[in-house]
Amino acid sequence: MRLDIDTLEGGAIGVSCALTLHGGSMRFALASSLEISGLRRGGEVLPPPAGEPCELPFRPQMSAYTLRGEPGDEFTFTYSGRLGGALLYFQSEVRHFSLYNGWYPMEFDADTDIDVTLPGDIAWELIQGRYDAARGLWRYTTRGRAIPDCNILLLRRGWWTRLESGALRLYYCEADQALPAGEAIRACSKIRAFYRSLYGREGASRELTLVYLPHGQDWGAYMRDGLVVFSSLPKDTSALRHTLAHELGHAYACRADSLSWEDWLNETGAEWSALLYELHADRPAFELRLDKLLELSESHPLCLRPPDGSRPDEVHETGTLVFARIYKKYGEEAIITLLRTLDGLQQPDTAALLSALRAQGEDSLAGELGAYISPQTP
Ligand SMILES: [Zn+2]
Repeated sequence: MRLDIDTLEGGAIGVSCALTLHGGSMRFALASSLEISGLRRGGEVLPPPAGEPCELPFRPQMSAYTLRGEPGDEFTFTYSGRLGGALLYFQSEVRHFSLYNGWYPMEFDADTDIDVTLPGDIAWELIQGRYDAARGLWRYTTRGRAIPDCNILLLRRGWWTRLESGALRLYYCEADQALPAGEAIRACSKIRAFYRSLYGREGASRELTLVYLPHGQDWGAYMRDGLVVFSSLPKDTSALRHTLAHELGHAYACRADSLSWEDWLNETGAEWSALLYELHADRPAFELRLDKLLELSESHPLCLRPPDGSRPDEVHETGTLVFARIYKKYGEEAIITLLRTLDGLQQPDTAALLSALRAQGEDSLAGELGAYISPQTP
C-alpha cells in the first residue's frame, strides 16, 4: 500500500492512498473522523465506500470499509480530516501520529507493508525516515518491521537535544528531561546486554532511538522496532529503568496477536524480561515489586482467557501475576524457561507455548500455567 500525505496542518491530514487487492475483497479500518473521497478502481470512478462503526483497542472511534473486486485490482482514493486519539501531537516542536490515531487503513485484510511519503520540509526530522532530496520529500516504510505501524514522528530541528552513544540515539526537548535522558542512555546498554545473554539473540535492531515527548500526555511509553517513545517522565530512577526495560523487553517473546486475549503473552513477556533484569541489576527493587505482585495475585481473578475469548482490560496484569506465582514456587529458572520458550515459538500463542513446554519435559510448568487459562477463583 502507498500513502502520500499531501497536507499536514493543525491536527488534520490529507492522504492519497493506492492499494492492490490480493483476493476478491479487502476490509480495513480507518478513523471515523477521516472522510474517504475520490474512490477509483483502475480508471473507473466508484461511489465512496460506506463505513460501519468498529471498535479497536487503543484506537479512536474507527470505521470499517470493504473494497470489492478481482485479485490484482488497483484502488486509489483520498481521505482527509482531523485526527483524534492518544499520543497525538501537532505542536511547534513535534508532529506525531501513529496506529493510536487510526490514521491509515489498518487491520483485517489491509496490507502491512506500507510506503509513506510526507511533505519534504527539512526544518523537521522524520524519526526512522529518510529524506529524498531528489523528490524533496520524506519517506517512511513499515517494510521489515516486526510491529507494523506507520509511526510518524516529526521533530522540529533546533528544538531538541540529541544524545548519542554507539548505536543509541536519544532526543528530548524539556529541561527536566536532561537527567532522565542521561540515565536512560546508561541503563539502555546494560539492559540490552542482559537481554542478549538471556535470549541469546540481538532482539530489536541494533540501532535504537529513544524519544521523550513534550509534557502534556501522561500515557506511559511504547515500543516499535528500534524505537522507544516516552510520553511521561518516570518518577524516579528505578521506575525509569523499569519502564525502559519493559519496553525493550517487547523486542523478545512478544509476537502474539495483540488484539486478542493472547496479548497477555506480549505484556507478560516484556514485564518479566524487565523483572529478571531488575533481579540482577537492583535486587531490592525487584523484591519490592515481587511482593506487590504476589499480594495483588491474592485478590485478582487469575483468568488468562475470558469465557468469551475476548481481549480483557487487565491483559497487562494477569499474566504478570501468574508468572509471579510461578516464580515464587519454582524460582528464576522456571521464568527463564518460560520466556525463552515463548521467544522461540513459531506460532506465538498460548497453546503453542504449552505444547513446547511439554516437548521439553516441562510438564509441571505447562500444567501450572494451563490451570490459569480458564477462570479461577482467587
Ligand atoms: Zn508493554
